[in-house]
Amino acid sequence: MNAPGEEADKAADVLIVGAGPVGLLAAILLGRGGLRVTVLERWPERYPLPRACTIDHEALRILQSAGVMRDHADLFEPSRGERGGYQIRNGDGVLLRAINWNRPAESGWANTNGFYQPDLEAVLEEMAVAIPTVRLRRGVLVDGVSQDAHSVTVRATRSADGSLETFHGTFLIAADGANSAVRELVGIETEDAGFEADWLVVDYEPLDGGEWDAFVTQYADPRQPATAVKSGPGRRRLEFMRRESVTVGELSRTDAVWELMARHGATPETARIERHAVYTFHGRWARRWRRGRVVLAGDAAHLMPPFLGQGLCAGFRDATALAWRFLLIERGQAAESILDSYGSERGAHVREIIDEAVAIGQVICELDPIRAAERDRRMLGELHDPAAIVVEPPHPRLGRPSITEDGDDNAGRLSVQGRVEAGGAVGLFDDVVGGSWQLIGLDPESTASIPEPLSAWFESIGGSITTVSDDGFVRDIDIAYRAWFDLHRCRVVLSRPDFYVFGTGGPGDAAGLLRDLRDQLIGDLADRHELLTEGALP
Ligand SMILES: Cc1cc2nc3c(=O)[nH]c(=O)nc-3n(C[C@H](O)[C@H](O)[C@H](O)COP(=O)(O)OP(=O)(O)OC[C@H]3O[C@@H](n4cnc5c(N)ncnc54)[C@H](O)[C@@H]3O)c2cc1C
Repeated sequence: MNAPGEEADKAADVLIVGAGPVGLLAAILLGRGGLRVTVLERWPERYPLPRACTIDHEALRILQSAGVMRDHADLFEPSRGERGGYQIRNGDGVLLRAINWNRPAESGWANTNGFYQPDLEAVLEEMAVAIPTVRLRRGVLVDGVSQDAHSVTVRATRSADGSLETFHGTFLIAADGANSAVRELVGIETEDAGFEADWLVVDYEPLDGGEWDAFVTQYADPRQPATAVKSGPGRRRLEFMRRESVTVGELSRTDAVWELMARHGATPETARIERHAVYTFHGRWARRWRRGRVVLAGDAAHLMPPFLGQGLCAGFRDATALAWRFLLIERGQAAESILDSYGSERGAHVREIIDEAVAIGQVICELDPIRAAERDRRMLGELHDPAAIVVEPPHPRLGRPSITEDGDDNAGRLSVQGRVEAGGAVGLFDDVVGGSWQLIGLDPESTASIPEPLSAWFESIGGSITTVSDDGFVRDIDIAYRAWFDLHRCRVVLSRPDFYVFGTGGPGDAAGLLRDLRDQLIGDLADRHELLTEGALP
């Protein structure tokens, strides 16, 4: 039985199962676009403990697009520290590899940032429920899913009294975490990278204000692999791998936790433990990301050991890749077939990151002293000049098929955001100029000669057309755009609402890019004929 006044919850454009960070972000992006969204969450209260503690520049640009960064940028602490901020050291403390996490990154935010997940989730929930078209229902466990050609129906059990409820939506996002019930219910299987390790995770507040020289240090010590990471303003995390001789129960004992922490200078006098828990780290991915009207996102679609701090970032990429597709489909501006490329684009992208995370995990988790010594020799050989060599984090491109320009090497790569000045306003491009789709040229000729109906169509899907230059109306104040265009050997870029490049070109290519985008979005849309006769399709 539905309680009175709850009927409005029952029909949505998009149902979301799971009010974790990925489900909440998807709700905000869709709700801000005017869609009716119902989020179903099994637990009556928000999960109070952190898991993710670092987040990258791309995820922060996504949060910027959701409106989070305007008032909450102070949740994030940029990576600092020696040798790029991310260091892998062996059992004797010798540097084996350094990864450049400190660089200013192409999304306009610091490459990597520490944060406290419960604070971010509280902000996301507050923002989601403030949107009039978003409803969050807590205390409902989804345990049945069925669908037909037009809609999805979900059955849920209320935790308060065990009664059943049904909800309907045009689409369903399964953001219900690693053990996704929806994934099982629609029969999507997973594949496993064959990596498994138990790690004790300890979150604490340092009481002595002591600084670390790195943002993250991975101690690849076969006697006791460990991680030390700055986990947001005023917080620290230490992680310790479980060795075979120790049970999960033994590793979880408070005296054992303090003993391990003492080796890193954290004692009851210098640290206040917030919590500790043992997690099993895996590498795993869904074989497909969509079954009809049901799509997977976040941990429901992929899991990775957290050594690169990318699990949540990948989930945010899923949410934004879905949001622009659903918004265009629901507004009748694109064919449903644009959902076909969601899994191929995201699947290959995240596989590359899972592979990297597993590879780093294998380095860090090596327990055999002989193999560890061989590893050290090999890695030291790669690191001829420890002062100079700092490797970049992985930068995968979207998998194919994708909604990108064919035959363009830049297509499917991450685009750029820099600071600009326009009409007296100074700030990041998305705040000052905006546009969910962005056509940006480096000189006026590169965006000239776009026929009016084509630019009007582009505007109708939320596009903006801008010339960024050293001395024009929109000024490239840090030369971020010129540098990006030079690196990618182009004069114009068309980027998507998830900040991936649709295509690039030279002067005169802009109109062609827009036409190709329009054709890919419209696809086999049934009312294409009507749009053409109304003149909406130039
Ligand atoms: C120790 C550790 C460290 C990590 N560090 C990082 C890091 O530094 N950076 C990073 O990017 N990532 C990191 N991650 C990964 C990151 O925490 C996860 O990827 C992220 O929290 C997943 O978010 P989600 O919304 O997909 O899933 P979840 O947060 O798991 O949310 C799923 C939600 O669905 C609900 N739910 C489940 N089943 C049902 C159902 N049947 N009906 C209704 N509701 C349901 C659950 O209650 C839950 O609220 C780390 C993970 C761990 C474990």
